Amino acid sequence: MYLPGVGPKKADVLRKEINVSSWEDMLYYFPYKYIDRSKIFKIRDIDGNMPFIQLKGKIYGYETLGEGHKKRLTAAFYDDTGDIDLIWFQNIKSIQNHYKQGIEYILFGKPAFFNGNIQVAHPELETEDQFFNGEVGIQGQYTTTEAMKNAFLHSRALHKLVIAILETIKEKFPETLPDFIIRKAHVISLDEALRNIHLPVSPALLRQAEFRLKFEELFYLQLQILRVTKFREKRIGGFRFTKVGDYFNRFYAQNLPFELTEAQKRVVREIRRDMNSGKQMNRLLQGDVGSGKTLVALLSILIAVDNGYQTALMAPTEILAAQHFETIAQLLEGLGIEVRLLTGSTRKKEREELLPAVQEGKIHLLIGTHALIEDTVLFGNLGLVVIDEQHRFGVAQRAKLWKKNKLPPHILVMTATPIPRTLAMTLYGDLDVSVIDELPPGRKPIRTIHMYSAKRKNLYASVRRQLREGRQVYIVYPLIEESELIDLKNLQAGFETTKEIFPEYAVSMVHGKMKPAEKDEEMQRFVSRETQIMVATTVIEVGVNVPNATVMIIENAERFGLSQLHQLRGRVGRGADQSFCILITEYELSENTRRRIAIMTETNDGFVIAEEDLKLRGPGDIDGTQQSGIAFNLRIADLTKDGQVLSLARELALEILEEDTVLQKPENSLLNKQLEKLNRQRNMGWFMIS
Ligand code: ADP
Ligand code: MG
Repeated sequence: MYLPGVGPKKADVLRKEINVSSWEDMLYYFPYKYIDRSKIFKIRDIDGNMPFIQLKGKIYGYETLGEGHKKRLTAAFYDDTGDIDLIWFQNIKSIQNHYKQGIEYILFGKPAFFNGNIQVAHPELETEDQFFNGEVGIQGQYTTTEAMKNAFLHSRALHKLVIAILETIKEKFPETLPDFIIRKAHVISLDEALRNIHLPVSPALLRQAEFRLKFEELFYLQLQILRVTKFREKRIGGFRFTKVGDYFNRFYAQNLPFELTEAQKRVVREIRRDMNSGKQMNRLLQGDVGSGKTLVALLSILIAVDNGYQTALMAPTEILAAQHFETIAQLLEGLGIEVRLLTGSTRKKEREELLPAVQEGKIHLLIGTHALIEDTVLFGNLGLVVIDEQHRFGVAQRAKLWKKNKLPPHILVMTATPIPRTLAMTLYGDLDVSVIDELPPGRKPIRTIHMYSAKRKNLYASVRRQLREGRQVYIVYPLIEESELIDLKNLQAGFETTKEIFPEYAVSMVHGKMKPAEKDEEMQRFVSRETQIMVATTVIEVGVNVPNATVMIIENAERFGLSQLHQLRGRVGRGADQSFCILITEYELSENTRRRIAIMTETNDGFVIAEEDLKLRGPGDIDGTQQSGIAFNLRIADLTKDGQVLSLARELALEILEEDTVLQKPENSLLNKQLEKLNRQRNMGWFMIS
């Protein structure tokens, strides 16, 4: 590869840092924002609150200050109206050699107030003949890393590189979308788009270039996902559950303790339709904590049993499995349904009796943990598997299920971590998603309060009041692997302090480093109210149901992500009493953290929270993305903002696949070629979805 002005060293940095090793890669490295560089300010007119600005002037008086990691380089920068300070913390030697004193430079940077002076840190400097403006002065800004800056590959340098490439390539870039799509989507050509995204001829063309490139990116993504889904739909048959029978009807009439919510009814109908379609069901059931997913699962299970099939319910932990078992066994009382529990700690003797019974088809419903999908567990006629809290189950584990019967059993995955709609579309394509968007009546919304650590004394009185009324309390501490030892110490200290503050109550402690048996035992003590306060790490996050617990205190709340906070909060508010969630933080918080805390105190709606989480963190970090085993990396489209482009892309992709599922028709050959190319580049594991 040869890029103008890029020697082997810079080329190496580009490859390592941003995975750019060809002209094409560089052209597909898009600006992340644009700045108007047509205006040059006078120093007298600027202040410390302005965004990026340009100045024209000279450097004077380099000076190195400080020692070690505090070492820094300063200089003055002046024009005919005044002067400001420049400062560099890195690369001190080469900066001094690179930028000469007394020569006129155009400076680009962000001014800030420091010690009463205006200061610009790590400015970009160019001489006037190096300086080049796009025709309208709108200039793209490119993301750069520290290592890139050190190699003088800052945003401006990348911009120039791109311009050089664009000027060298005079012929048009070959089109990557078929004509008929270009017409239907009303997008400009690839050639125009690539040129204008880097070097806009006008603001209007810039917008069109963005639209074209976003559309293309999302279109191929949708085409890819939907093709797999269509293929699967065509191929994979499923057991047909044609009837709703005695078990279901008797349960509904006699055992159901309350009226179903409308949302529950709708979802049960959706599931019934799926399981009677002749295709394998692969449905994701989303519903906020407490929305009553278990009951929906149970009704689905009863339909399967009515049709002569066995069912399994998998939970991510032993505690949860045991809890499900208890609740469900109780709900099913008197119906004559065989329900059993199988976990890692099921005794050998019981196993020896249980496993043959499962194989002979005598057990209608087997509840358990991962132990359920071990190869030793053979079912006589497994027809439906319900997976609770899906994000704890890996893709490989799910795949194992498919081998448990002649046809793959229907699969219902339940999650309380809602995935925003745009992300679900992108991740799952046509995977069916049901949503329970309604809580059972009579729930009191949890009150969430933000409290500074220094003021925590005020908290104890109200906590004591709750305890005195017989309620229970969670206190959660963060624990992450990187700082595990410190975190464990904090947890331990928190445990001791809690015992001192509430000597009249019994305190439990649970964390992930304990042996599972120990952990379960301690958890069980809390469930049975033997202890009133539970000091824990996030191990209690998923699904545990202690309706008597009304207070959730989260220490160092700034260290938790939004979804995690929401999950934790969902541990309370499960009974009839008013519940509280207290988020404790230090005074000093980043803007992002303040926003997270504010969202938590403002809403209890898991979907709103998921959307906000997506906005704050970007899709790459959302639980579902990583754990779904799909690596996708959007270069320009933004799932939080480009919902409409996504819808259009999806519509057109669907239209094409309706006619030509495997893209064989001649007019679709370009699509096929592009998909193959993208696949090679990204190595996306689409086939692994659910
Ligand atoms: P989640 O969706 O978090 O798994 P659960 O299924 O555990 O929620 O249900 C939470 C609580 O709400 C349970 O105690 C359950 O019995 C109760 N519940 C479920 N559906 C209804 C309903 N339609 N009316 C009243 N209470 C309900
Ligand atoms: Mg649940």
